Amino acid sequence: SLLRLQLWKFVDEHQIESLEKSKAKSALEKLQEERKTLPIYPYRDQLLQAVNDYQVLVIVGETGSGKTTQIPQYLHEAGYTKRGKVGCTQPRRVAAMSIAARVSQELGVKLGHEVGYSIRFEDCTSDKTILKYMTDGMLLREFLGEPDLAGYSVIMVDEAHERTLSTDVLFGLVKDIARFRPELKLLISSATLDAEKFSDYFDSAPIFKIPGRRYPVEINFTKAPEADYLDAAIVTALQIHVTKPPGDILVFLTGQEEIEAAEEIMKHRTRGLGTKIAELIICPIYANLPTELQAKIFEPTPIGARKVVLATNIAETSLTIDGIKYVIDPGFSKIKSYNPRTGMESLQVSPISKASANQRAGRSGRTGPGMCFRLYTAYSYYNEMEDNTVPEIQRTNLANVVLTLKSLGIHDLVNFDFMDQPPSEALLKALELLYALGALNKLGELTKMGRRMAEFPLDPMLSKMMVASEKHKCSDEIISIAAMLSIGNSIFYRPKDKQVHADNARMNFHTGNVGDHIALLKVYNSWRETNYSTQWCYENYIQVRSMKRARDIRDQLEGLLERVEIELTSNLNDLDAIKKTIISGFFPHSAKLQKNGSYRTIKHPQTVHIHPSSGLAQVLPRWAVYHELVCTSKEYMRQVTELKPEWLVEIAPHFYQLKDVEDLSQKKMPRGQGRPAEN
Ligand code: ADP
Ligand code: MG
Repeated sequence: SLLRLQLWKFVDEHQIESLEKSKAKSALEKLQEERKTLPIYPYRDQLLQAVNDYQVLVIVGETGSGKTTQIPQYLHEAGYTKRGKVGCTQPRRVAAMSIAARVSQELGVKLGHEVGYSIRFEDCTSDKTILKYMTDGMLLREFLGEPDLAGYSVIMVDEAHERTLSTDVLFGLVKDIARFRPELKLLISSATLDAEKFSDYFDSAPIFKIPGRRYPVEINFTKAPEADYLDAAIVTALQIHVTKPPGDILVFLTGQEEIEAAEEIMKHRTRGLGTKIAELIICPIYANLPTELQAKIFEPTPIGARKVVLATNIAETSLTIDGIKYVIDPGFSKIKSYNPRTGMESLQVSPISKASANQRAGRSGRTGPGMCFRLYTAYSYYNEMEDNTVPEIQRTNLANVVLTLKSLGIHDLVNFDFMDQPPSEALLKALELLYALGALNKLGELTKMGRRMAEFPLDPMLSKMMVASEKHKCSDEIISIAAMLSIGNSIFYRPKDKQVHADNARMNFHTGNVGDHIALLKVYNSWRETNYSTQWCYENYIQVRSMKRARDIRDQLEGLLERVEIELTSNLNDLDAIKKTIISGFFPHSAKLQKNGSYRTIKHPQTVHIHPSSGLAQVLPRWAVYHELVCTSKEYMRQVTELKPEWLVEIAPHFYQLKDVEDLSQKKMPRGQGRPAEN
């Protein structure tokens, strides 16, 4: 009877297997049917013909028409992948991941095999990969290893209208290689009508338009400006939920913190609505959202329920969520702003452009008539908003790009073929910074230091910190700190009902006022000592997911250290050595305490404050070095460590002179005293 049982089991498993197979097959068939309903489908053959006839093609089509998911598949079906990979760039990592996942499903293959993605610190591709989705920044880095991109038969620069810094630099590079690789096909695709400009730039490349389907969208403005757009957005969403016919809601917010706050408030308020009101499914989507939660936004809403998607700009054109009928647009996004005069960069919540506002509204009219609720006045739309967002290249720090271009052997940056020139001041500032960091010599040539720095996919100041860890023998600590800094501010969490406990747990890592960088290191090391325990994270109000990501990043940084031949050494007993290493990269970010408790940055005086989340917020050290500036109600320094002023002169003598770092108290003393020893 044992045999019978086993036989039975075999039959059973066999049946299940074939059942699963047929289920998978019908899912695949269904996806194939869906592909044929996309607006791009009727133009498939014409599009392939155009790709065949021209080397460079500009493709324009409304968001959701199928450009990103379909065109690479069409190219594969037409045989282009026999000659090399099809690469498709995205400005955002979540888009690269989620679209690759979708395309692998449509092709019925495992993600990472034939279809893969590559984003910073995460390479989900293999030797088999023929359709590769990646961030524009990653393709830029691929030039360093393969300057002619020989492994590719087609490059599709997607979301070109976003005009990110990396996309703009890619334009120049791909235009150049297209000249000496006539068999390489180049597609520039965009959701908006800037097509002429792209065409002009690429020597009058033809424009292929994919007619979109768009339903009317009713636009509503507020009568008066909203004092608190977050609250207004939540109230509006709940009102729609309670009073409007079925259809999902998309709310545009500016970042993770805001989205998490909104999620919590909405959950709280819907609890009070009673059972007569339909279920409201809340789906957040932002850059650092863990992969397993990203798929949730695409799951069809169950009948009788309503979905509300809380998204950053990512849902503006990069991702299309089917079923959205209502859009709530507070009119803001978080953008990097840069002052080329001072070289200071900060993240800032700023009003969006009219073009963005129109894209956002359009998200509601894709599958039927929609409604858009703008939480600003018609007056401000018509009179105050810019027509278009300024390309990133004109409002950002260029140090990273300059280092990459120099590493590619492109020296004459002023004559580089930019679609829109960066401000010459910003170029100059980038050269100055790289010189100060030791990456370039006086002639603007790449130094050995610069070559080593360029190996790291990090901002130059972080890269410098990595290389400097060799001298101070603390590379083990520095890669942990760099990995933790890369996670952003999603390490600690603070549940509403346990804030005191959470704050206490957090302050434990700040014992001795070691500063935020060392505190991050302590968090990482303590976790490592528990053998990466999840329980330990719970007990300390630390996000396990963020820590796991930090560990992944750290592993990769360790590999990169090996490539630049820096030994892994620990110097945990010498905190000053670690701080000096941080300052080797971040000396331009130093500030001095003022009488009123604010700070002045040293080189280009500007008033800044210690962020309330910093362990030093109550301590107010006399001198401080910071990781980044964020501008909310004030200009805040985030991740702050105390420094000794003499270190600045010691570490960066070409940047700081004694007079920059002389203390008031020292000035009162007779000359020669209280000054750092000159050795
Ligand atoms: P475009 O690039 O022209 O904006 P896409 O190719 O991104 O259009 O989208 C085509 C369709 O694929 C849309 O209907 C969208 O909802 C769907 N889609 C894209 N990514 C996913 C995903 N990860 N899961 C489910 N559907 C997706
Ligand atoms: Mg797209």
